Amino acid sequence: MMDSYKHKGLRKKLVELLKEKGIDNEDVLEAINAIPRHLFMDNAFVNFAYKDQAFPIGSDQTISQPYTVAFQTQLLEVSKGEKVLEIGTGSGYQSAVLIEMGAKVHSIERHRSLHKKSKQILEELKYKGKFFFGDGFEGLPTFAPFDKILITAAAPRIPEKLIDQLKVGGFLVIPLGSGESQQMLRLTKMEDGSVKEEKYGQFSFVPMLENKSFSS
Ligand code: SAH
Repeated sequence: MMDSYKHKGLRKKLVELLKEKGIDNEDVLEAINAIPRHLFMDNAFVNFAYKDQAFPIGSDQTISQPYTVAFQTQLLEVSKGEKVLEIGTGSGYQSAVLIEMGAKVHSIERHRSLHKKSKQILEELKYKGKFFFGDGFEGLPTFAPFDKILITAAAPRIPEKLIDQLKVGGFLVIPLGSGESQQMLRLTKMEDGSVKEEKYGQFSFVPMLENKSFSS
C-alpha cells in the first residue's frame, strides 16, 4: 500500500487540527505532514490513520495519538544532527517524526515482534536510525551521551540510568506515573547532575514495563 492524494489531504487536515490544539513548532508540523502514518498501522485501521486518536498495533500496544506525538516532539526541541534516544519504538511512527526532523535516532523496544515490524517499515520508507530490541530502563550506555531522551510509555519512576546517559543541558521528556493517566514532565540535566523539572499536563500511555522477561 502506498501514499495517495487522499492520504495527503487527510494529513493536511490533521496538521490543521494539531495547530488548533496548540502545536506551533513548524518542524514538527512539517514532519507530520510528510509522514504516511497509515503505513505504520494494520490494514484494518488504515481508515482511522489521520484521526487524532491512538490505535492498536498488536502485542497489546498502541501507536500514540498524533497530538501526543506532536506535543512530546515539540517539548524535546529537536535540532538537526542531535542524538536522540527513544524508549518504546512501537509502530516506529515517532521515530520517523524525529528522523524527518534531522535527529540521529536510537530507539529501544521490548517486544520482539514490534521491534522487527517497525524496523522493516522504517527501512522500506528509507528512515535511517538505530533500532534495538531491549529494555529501555537500561538505555544504551555504549551510544551515550544523548542530546535528548524521549520516553513514549508510562514510566513508573524516573530511570536513573537514562539521566546518566543524558548530556548536561539535555532534556528527558517522560510521562510519569503508573495510574490511568500520567504527568508529562520535561527534565533538564544540570551541571551538577541534578535535574530541573517542568510539568506539562496529563496524558495516557501504555505502561513502561520493568523487570519482566521479554515478550515476543
Ligand atoms: N513511540 C511509539 C509508541 C508505542 S507505545 C509509536 O510511535 O508507535 C509504547 C511502547 O513502549 C510499546 O511498544 C511497548 O512495548 C514499549 N515498552 C514498554 N516498556 C518498555 C521498556 N521497558 N523498554 C522498551 N520498550 C518498552
